Amino acid sequence: MKFKIFFQPFFLCGRLLALITASLCGGAGPGRGGCASSPAHRDPGPCAASPSQGYYTRRGGVGESGDFITSPEISQVFGELIGIWYISEWMAMGKPSTFQLVELGPGRGTLTEDILRVFQQLASVLSKCDVSVHLVEVSPKLSEIQAVMLTGGKVQPSPEDESAYMKGISKTGIPIFWYRDIQDVPPGYSFYLAHEFFDALPIHKFQRTEKGWREVLVDIDPEVPDQLRFVLSPSRTPATQNFIQPEETRDHVEVCPEAGVIVQRLASRIEKDGGAALVADYGHDGTKTDTFRGFRNHKLHDVLSAPGTADLTADVDFSYLRKMARGKTATLGPIKQREFLKNMGIDLRLQVLLQNSGDTATREQLLHSYDMLMNPEKMGDCFNFFALLPHQRLAHPDKKDKPESKSPLPPVAGFNELLLK
Ligand code: SAH
Repeated sequence: MKFKIFFQPFFLCGRLLALITASLCGGAGPGRGGCASSPAHRDPGPCAASPSQGYYTRRGGVGESGDFITSPEISQVFGELIGIWYISEWMAMGKPSTFQLVELGPGRGTLTEDILRVFQQLASVLSKCDVSVHLVEVSPKLSEIQAVMLTGGKVQPSPEDESAYMKGISKTGIPIFWYRDIQDVPPGYSFYLAHEFFDALPIHKFQRTEKGWREVLVDIDPEVPDQLRFVLSPSRTPATQNFIQPEETRDHVEVCPEAGVIVQRLASRIEKDGGAALVADYGHDGTKTDTFRGFRNHKLHDVLSAPGTADLTADVDFSYLRKMARGKTATLGPIKQREFLKNMGIDLRLQVLLQNSGDTATREQLLHSYDMLMNPEKMGDCFNFFALLPHQRLAHPDKKDKPESKSPLPPVAGFNELLLK
């Protein structure tokens, strides 16, 4: 479908958003929109990403037939609205001539696929922009699935001296590169995406006791063969000394230092080269305590049983991510998934898809997947969106000091309801 776009420089106004949201190809894409009975999530086990034993490298069960289902696997609308978010930020930031879309932990590649479909449908808007895709993925099994999903399997291994381990061209003609570490992604203006990625990283657990903080460790139960158990460290550990914030008021805390390091890297890159990061995950703003749990075949699973065979997950502490970005970038959120998607125009998009779908089964499927994403009892409230943005993106010009400044900065889509102009 061709778009008519009434363009306002530097500002994806509500009307344009509405037009784009309504105009993205009118039907539910083939094979998209499936939904499993329960949403379930990720793996902070110590060896989750280990090349030989890790859950992701061996099992990596995203999707209906796996251990957990994620929002992009539930509905194509999710990825489409995220694609629009990147375009709106690209426009708000003055339409730089090139950008990299960098996804951390792309799973089956579904989210990137949906985003690239939006980029293709908005090709007239992006026509002068040089876009490339960079996927950070540790799992050989999942990177193969991503390659099939995004390129039809037309990929080649990169030479040893290149930072990417694999490269190819997307079905829509965009170059795609695969890396094992965010540090291998070349510098440059980049939009980062981390959906259900941070909850996959290992955590440390701590318990406040009368003797001070103790680390929760795993050891072998001496009384039951092949059984693991939780124990408290008899004294302080390096982690209790380094990872607990002095102002901490909770009695039980989970800290993910690897997430902190990655957010610091993202923030440094955004500060230096420009761009933005969108993080969406299970989480809280520094309020929850014991959230570590396991999922196998969409059911809760004892985290200590059969390590490496279940998806282990812990809620992301967004207050910790905010602290890690401090000084380098501004942050927005966390806001609830249902608020973010509503601000991005999910209701309008649903109406268009419903109008264009001929059969009852598809309409029911659309309504069911909307409910999964938006219902506060399902994924609407427990999932959050959080963004890292350059300071200048949010700093409102002080009109007294700068009487020449023409208009305020455009609101950041998703975190604000866009005003219809
Ligand atoms: N974003 C996808 C998949 C989430 S599952 C979705 O929402 O559907 C978590 C993803 O992160 C998987 O692709 C897993 O292989 C990857 N992953 C886990 N640990 C990683 C690490 N340390 N570095 C890079 N990728 C990792």
